[in-house]
Amino acid sequence: MPETVTSTTRHTIVLIPGDGIGPEVTAATKRVVEAAGLEVDWVELPAGVAALEQGYDNVLPERTLAAIRAHKVALKGPVTTPVGKGFKSVNVQLRQKLNLYAAVRPVRSLEGVKTRYDGVDMVIIRENTEGLYSGIENEVVPGVVTSLKVASEAACTRIARYAFGYATSRNRKKITVFHKANIMKLTDGLFLTCARRIHEREYPNIQYEEMIIDAGCMKLVQDPARFDVLLMENLYGDLVSDLCAGLVGGLGVVPGSNIGDEAAVFEAVHGSAPDIAGRGVANPLALIMSAVMMLNHLNEQAIAERIKRAYNRVLAEGRTLTRDLGGTAGTQEFADAIIAAME
Ligand code: NAD
Repeated sequence: MPETVTSTTRHTIVLIPGDGIGPEVTAATKRVVEAAGLEVDWVELPAGVAALEQGYDNVLPERTLAAIRAHKVALKGPVTTPVGKGFKSVNVQLRQKLNLYAAVRPVRSLEGVKTRYDGVDMVIIRENTEGLYSGIENEVVPGVVTSLKVASEAACTRIARYAFGYATSRNRKKITVFHKANIMKLTDGLFLTCARRIHEREYPNIQYEEMIIDAGCMKLVQDPARFDVLLMENLYGDLVSDLCAGLVGGLGVVPGSNIGDEAAVFEAVHGSAPDIAGRGVANPLALIMSAVMMLNHLNEQAIAERIKRAYNRVLAEGRTLTRDLGGTAGTQEFADAIIAAME
C-alpha cells in the first residue's frame, strides 16, 4: 500500500460496539479506518444490553456519556434497548442528553448495487430530540394511554437552520419538508412555520417545497431521483430513512450521523439485526460509510476519500459482496477486500 495518505493529527474517538451485529461491524470498521491511515486512540465503552452484561445498572452508563462529552466524537454500533424492562431507549437518551439535534443520512445509488432505481442522491435531515420521541407517555385511565408529540419553536428553528446551512455548504439545490400539518396543525404547523421563516429570511438561495408525508412517500417510490434534501421531524425521519434505504440496496448501505453543537455520534441507520447476529455475515458498509462521514467531520478528508474510493471499487467489481447485496462474503472478508483495494 502506498504511504501517501497520513492523518493530520492523532484523534481520540469513543467506540461503542453495541449489541447484536454491532461488535462485528464495529470491529470491521475499526480495521478499515486504521488501515486507511488514521492515527487514533479508541476509547471503547458499552451501551445497550452490552452495558448491563458488563455490570452497569443502566443501558446508557454515565461513563460512556462522559467520554463522548470529553472527546466530542463517537463511532457507534447499533444497540438493543430491552423492551418492557423500564429502560428508556438508549438512542433517544443519547440524542437528548448530548443534544445531538440533527440526524443526517445520505442515501445514494451505488455502482454495483443493483436496485430498481438509478440516480438516487438525497440526504435526510431528521430532527432528533423531540416530536413523538420525547418519551412523554401517560395512562389516562386503565385501557387508555397517550403519547405526547412535542414541538418547540427553538428546536424546529434549529433543525431548519441546520438543514438550510447543510444544503448551502454542500451545493444542494432544494429542501423538501415532509409533514402532516393538515392533521397535526399545531406541532407540524410550527415545524413548517419555522422552516418557511428560515428559508425566506436566511436562505432564499435554496428552493423550498412542502409535501404531505403520505404523498411524499408515494413520490419517493415513484421517482426518488427528484428529491435532494429531505427535512422532517423525528418519527417521520425514522420511518422515511428505512424506506429510502430500500431504494438504494437496503440497510447495509445507508450511513448516518447525529450532530450537535458539542458532540457528534456516527452510526448506521440499521439496528442490531438479531436475526443475523453472531454469524459474521452482516454488511459492515453502512458503518464504514458512517466512519467516512466521521473522518470528514474530523477534517481527515484524504483518509475519508481513500476509504470511499476503495469501497466503491469493491462494489463495482462485485466479486466480494455480503449476502444482503447478493454475494457470499462475510463481514471481515468484505472489510479485507476494502483494505486490499486501498491505494
Ligand atoms: P434492524 O435494522 O436491526 O434489521 C432489519 C433487517 O435488516 C433485518 O432483517 C436485518 O438482518 C437486516 N439488516 C440490518 N442491518 C444489516 C446489515 N448491516 N447487514 C445485513 N443485513 C442487515 O431492525 P429491527 O430488526 O427492527 O431492530 C432490531 C433491534 O435494533 C431493535 O432492538 C431495535 O430497537 C434496534 N435498533 C437500534 C438502532 C440503533 O442503535 N441505532 C436502530 C434501529 C433499531
